[in-house]
Amino acid sequence: MRIVVLVKPVPDPASGGERLGANGRLDRAAVPAVVNGNDEYALEAALKLTAAAPEGSEVTLLSMAPASAPETLRKALAMGATRGVHVTDPALAGSCAVSTAKVLAAALKQLEFDLVLAGVDTSDGLGGTVPAAVAAYLGLPFLSYAARIEPDEPAGTVRVRRISPTGYDLLEAPMPALISCTQALGEPRYPTLKGIMAARSKEIATRSLADLELDPSTVGGAVATTQVLATKVPPARGATEVVRGTPDEGATRIVEFLAQRRII
Ligand SMILES: Cc1cc2nc3c(=O)[nH]c(=O)nc-3n(C[C@H](O)[C@H](O)[C@H](O)COP(=O)(O)OP(=O)(O)OC[C@H]3O[C@@H](n4cnc5c(N)ncnc54)[C@H](O)[C@@H]3O)c2cc1C
Repeated sequence: MRIVVLVKPVPDPASGGERLGANGRLDRAAVPAVVNGNDEYALEAALKLTAAAPEGSEVTLLSMAPASAPETLRKALAMGATRGVHVTDPALAGSCAVSTAKVLAAALKQLEFDLVLAGVDTSDGLGGTVPAAVAAYLGLPFLSYAARIEPDEPAGTVRVRRISPTGYDLLEAPMPALISCTQALGEPRYPTLKGIMAARSKEIATRSLADLELDPSTVGGAVATTQVLATKVPPARGATEVVRGTPDEGATRIVEFLAQRRII
């Protein structure tokens, strides 16, 4: 089973130092980067699937990111991925979701895979659109919000349990397919010391737009389909009330609270 995992380096949400430049773009140099949290769940799913069928299996990380990304990708390699592919080019600065998907699709055309796994969204852009757009560019079946992934290699198909508002949908598609992964797939593992040491010598191949045969004038900030016009800090949280006592007392107080505000 050959799996490619789409991995985006994002500003560490724990650093609290995210800053926007005057152009509305994130100042990525100002904060340490980490692998997007949801992508770690996708990677964990990929590692479990390949461990279940190890012969000829490999997990490739694919990232479109600034030049500093390999440092961040090493952690994902330490979790057990086989290698990384890093697409980077000065012309990609300010890319919108459409450009991002176009570039990732072009990079995937140069790789061999049975499945592509992605996170459902990122903690910085939060668009939740890139996986579907990549699938559309490549004409791949797209299975979203996966809570379970069951490939059937001899049949050449994959089944996915998709989280729905009422329970689960059971989807089946031919492989290769692209799947967006939820946290229901299971907690990502911590890298072991052995994994960290091994990651130091794993290959991270760099690809430019020229390598992907993409015209720089068709991607990047100059042709972005969206633009951040303004940003606003959300209002501070109002005063909170902690209800103490027995469950009955707590329930009574909560009902009073909601009734006073005409919510119930
Ligand atoms: C502060 C800020 C300013 C921005 N300014 C602009 C702007 O001016 N104009 C504009 O058009 N866009 C702007 N963006 C959007 C930015 O370019 C997006 O990050 C990009 O379009 C990817 O979308 P997303 O992060 O919403 O991905 P999502 O669709 O939320 O990502 C879902 C999944 O797709 C995969 N994925 C997404 N991106 C990548 C990647 N680069 N490499 C590998 N896998 C990936 C991951 O598996 C991820 O979990 C801005 C974003 C931020 C945070």
